[in-house]
Amino acid sequence: MDEHFITPAFNPSPNQACFCGSHLAFAQCCGSTQSHRQPPHSVHIIRGFLDATTTEKWVGLLDKKRGEKTGLKQGGEVVVSDKRVAERVFLGPVEKKLTRLMRKVFTTTIPQAMACDFEWFERPQIVRYPVGGHIWLHADNENYIKERKAWRKTSDRDVSLLLYLNDDFDGGELSFYAMNYVYKPRRGDLVFFPSDHRYAHRAHPVTSGRRYAVISWGAFRDAPRVHARPTNNCIFL
Ligand SMILES: [Zn+2]
Repeated sequence: MDEHFITPAFNPSPNQACFCGSHLAFAQCCGSTQSHRQPPHSVHIIRGFLDATTTEKWVGLLDKKRGEKTGLKQGGEVVVSDKRVAERVFLGPVEKKLTRLMRKVFTTTIPQAMACDFEWFERPQIVRYPVGGHIWLHADNENYIKERKAWRKTSDRDVSLLLYLNDDFDGGELSFYAMNYVYKPRRGDLVFFPSDHRYAHRAHPVTSGRRYAVISWGAFRDAPRVHARPTNNCIFL
């Protein structure tokens, strides 16, 4: 096992100094359980990033499309299971516009917010969560090793991105387990955060309506890599 990619679980105690460097206790900072609180360190939320006209137009198109069942990636294969109930939908010709927008996000928006530089990002996917749709708690670039109480890096994703296209649904919150943080998606919001296990997250079940999200991931230039080359459909910058 390559020890280089194994990290002990992130499990700060409430009184411990917060990992963000604020000198506050974790429970008073990134781990706060208060409902009106700031997002944790490095969880960026840009409200209304995509305008209402565009989101409405895209949602109108997507509502007419049949979805393709999708699952979770396990050892390089996508496995459909009840841990992720969602459908992939395609925008057709409009996807070019979405790709252009994502290119801008990975060359400008995120680098400005996080002081980083990307080598590539994954071709954006649009996911629809019908009633009951959800995704189980997971980290985007690491898998938990029970016997070791540690995480192993399994993918070269460094930053995870979500762009919410609608908010006319119930349920479907995004929550970051280790930080006690719950975010309720709003139409047009762009959300991004590090892909490691500190930011393990889940999408709660949708209880009415359907929830649309664009998802993508970026890899930093000059970061240590698990794989010799990207394993997914990637766009180099
Ligand atoms: Zn903090």
